[in-house]
Amino acid sequence: MGREVRRVPVDFDWPLNKVWEGFLSPDRFDETPCPDCENGYSPQAQNLYDLWYGKIPFDPASTGSTPWRHDSPAVRAFAERNLSNAPDYYGTGESALRREAQRLADLFNAGWSHHLSQEDVDALVAGGRLYDFTHYVVPGKGWQPKDSVVTPTAAEVNEWSLRGMGHDSINAHVVIKARCEREGVEDTCSTCKGHASLEKYEGQRAEAEAWEPIDPPTGDGWQLWETVSEGSPVSPVFVTADDLAGWMSAPERGDRWVPGDVARKFIDDGWAPTGVLTPGRGYQSGVEAVGWDN
Ligand SMILES: [Zn+2]
Repeated sequence: MGREVRRVPVDFDWPLNKVWEGFLSPDRFDETPCPDCENGYSPQAQNLYDLWYGKIPFDPASTGSTPWRHDSPAVRAFAERNLSNAPDYYGTGESALRREAQRLADLFNAGWSHHLSQEDVDALVAGGRLYDFTHYVVPGKGWQPKDSVVTPTAAEVNEWSLRGMGHDSINAHVVIKARCEREGVEDTCSTCKGHASLEKYEGQRAEAEAWEPIDPPTGDGWQLWETVSEGSPVSPVFVTADDLAGWMSAPERGDRWVPGDVARKFIDDGWAPTGVLTPGRGYQSGVEAVGWDN
């Protein structure tokens, strides 16, 4: 997040806003895409993946689920939210509401993700998913497990999936994997063993895993870096911390201007050893307040 100060040689010369080469995994680690899969799944699992996202025709009856209708309460509530958020687009009144609700119902009926079976739900609970049902939030402590876990019904979970964020890709993976297991089929691509890519030469993957980023050289200079990407310099190299603070608080920096005392404190605290300011340190909020997080 944000910015850090690095001590680099005074003559350090790396282009501004260009990620330092040592931070980037070299191209030689790029593998060949697997010819037999797109994301590491077996053909059967890929088929389930496509059903999950409605990329191929899906029938709610196949999981014992009931199709959504325009007058299903959760669908209607969703349509009401859409209408109230953009009445100019969706129109107003009962016929507009019904039209939007039907569109949504058709959309939700097109994929498995809104029509889980009880076995799918059981797999998610067993996989530590569905926190909304099995956990509750305690202020300051985060998610805590409920004392007695009651497994939600498929209908409850399917209705939940129409609210908020719904299922993420991890849930999709857990459900697909569990169904493959129940049906006794392999879930990973046998060609690439689930990597979705093949090594260009033996040992390439091990080399890539052993690779570690290399920091820029260190020296007596002072330079501001952004850490939003892997990391790139955003200021000239200055000989003294005061010079860098002066640059940071120069009026011509517009919305990136930082008050001189904040800049100096940021530098004093921010250059070593890790150099990254955390929100807990208190200075970043002052920095963000003047537009640095852009
Ligand atoms: Zn593959």
